[in-house]
Amino acid sequence: MNKAYDIVIVGGGPAGLAAAIAARESGTQSVIILERGEQLGGILNQCIHNGFGLHTFKEELTGPEYAHRFIQKVIDMGIEYKLDTMVMDISPERAVTAMNREDGMFVIDAKAVILAMGCRERPRGALNIPGYRPAGIFSAGTAQRLVNIEGYMPGREVVILGSGDIGLIMARRMTLEGAKVKCVAELMPYSGGLKRNIVQCLDDFGIPLLLSHTVVDIEGKEHITAVTIAEVGADRRPIKGTEVRYTCDTLLLSCGLIPENELSTSAGVRLSPITNGPVVNESLETSIPGVFACGNVLHVHDLVDYVSEEAAKAGQTAARYAQGAVEKGGREIEIHAGGGARYTVPSTVCIDRMDDRLTVRFRAGDVYKDAYVSVYFDEARVMRKKKRIIAPGEMEQIILSREQMKEYPDLKTITVKIER
Ligand SMILES: Cc1cc2nc3c(=O)[nH]c(=O)nc-3n(C[C@H](O)[C@H](O)[C@H](O)COP(=O)(O)OP(=O)(O)OC[C@H]3O[C@@H](n4cnc5c(N)ncnc54)[C@H](O)[C@@H]3O)c2cc1C
Repeated sequence: MNKAYDIVIVGGGPAGLAAAIAARESGTQSVIILERGEQLGGILNQCIHNGFGLHTFKEELTGPEYAHRFIQKVIDMGIEYKLDTMVMDISPERAVTAMNREDGMFVIDAKAVILAMGCRERPRGALNIPGYRPAGIFSAGTAQRLVNIEGYMPGREVVILGSGDIGLIMARRMTLEGAKVKCVAELMPYSGGLKRNIVQCLDDFGIPLLLSHTVVDIEGKEHITAVTIAEVGADRRPIKGTEVRYTCDTLLLSCGLIPENELSTSAGVRLSPITNGPVVNESLETSIPGVFACGNVLHVHDLVDYVSEEAAKAGQTAARYAQGAVEKGGREIEIHAGGGARYTVPSTVCIDRMDDRLTVRFRAGDVYKDAYVSVYFDEARVMRKKKRIIAPGEMEQIILSREQMKEYPDLKTITVKIER
């Protein structure tokens, strides 16, 4: 193995794969993917349901099928990758320290690094649920792995807390495997998942979704035997007298995903307090020059198609950086989220460096019906698009053009807003 590469990609999930392919297609030969798992494909390997790739391939694929198309391309293009290889550290100078059983600890000097480490689930410890800590409580992703990869059923009588997409998918999966899913309880007054998953995974199987509800007690010392669920008020506190007890042997938690940014933090990459992912510019470059980010480590996506699209962009811009073809300097325009929008990715854009078009992605902080997505160039509104529904579970995007920005030579701030 070489000690220096033009581009080192950390993570071989859909983001890392798409970034590697795009980097190679952009003319960079020396690319390596470092993946801590025993195979490429990331979390998609355990997502055996269909619904992937509608945008990218115009067909419905399972997670492994979707991943396979990218893995095959990586292999066909002869892109190097190392499995069972954990990246331990990235220095601000882009020295990547990793280890595996074969090579021990090693350091690669990279001209550019692409962060593609994905995300992990919020654990029980971060959720503040009272009661005992018996066996039978799993994150929805762990249960997905047990059922789809290891071939074990976590239990037969299931309650799910949190209505993120993985929880919704697992409600259906556990039902199909013969379990009784009693309900999905969601603290917020809206679901954190996609509408299509609520319909296809809950409604089609008669599984109740209890919005504004949470688990207030867990019973069972050795193994979980029941949970108590109560309604919560606008302050998210349980309302006395609304408690209902559900016997169960399994509680699945689907209460949010957290980008895997320990490496980014130790490298000194600036993180957004909203997304918990790196703050990036139009090239998906972080606050450390030559370090790029894409996929769920940047912000949690709803559809893998957008992960692949975003990662391809990171691959192209990292290749340009490694080839020394990036224009230095240029005026940065800030992109802010306002109104009901929580954040934007990217956070800045430089007109001199951007492509003809820039995709800006964001999420709403609440459910909006018949609302408008508006874009302001400083005080001037330049775009207004009506949307029937905007929900926190669905990522939104707008496209800005360079032409349009050039019409505002003194432009300082672009604001994306959701307005009623
Ligand atoms: C449990 C779970 C289930 C999901 N189920 C679905 C679903 O059913 N449908 C859906 O559309 N989306 C699902 N998602 C969302 C899904 O993560 C994204 O669509 C997509 O997989 C994100 O791609 P990614 O490459 O950014 O991350 P990932 O697929 O998570 O890939 C990241 C890769 O980076 C590797 N990595 C991390 N840290 C290191 C390190 N230090 N060194 C080396 N390698 C490292 C990981 O091993 C992993 O292979 C799920 C997410 C999770 C967490």
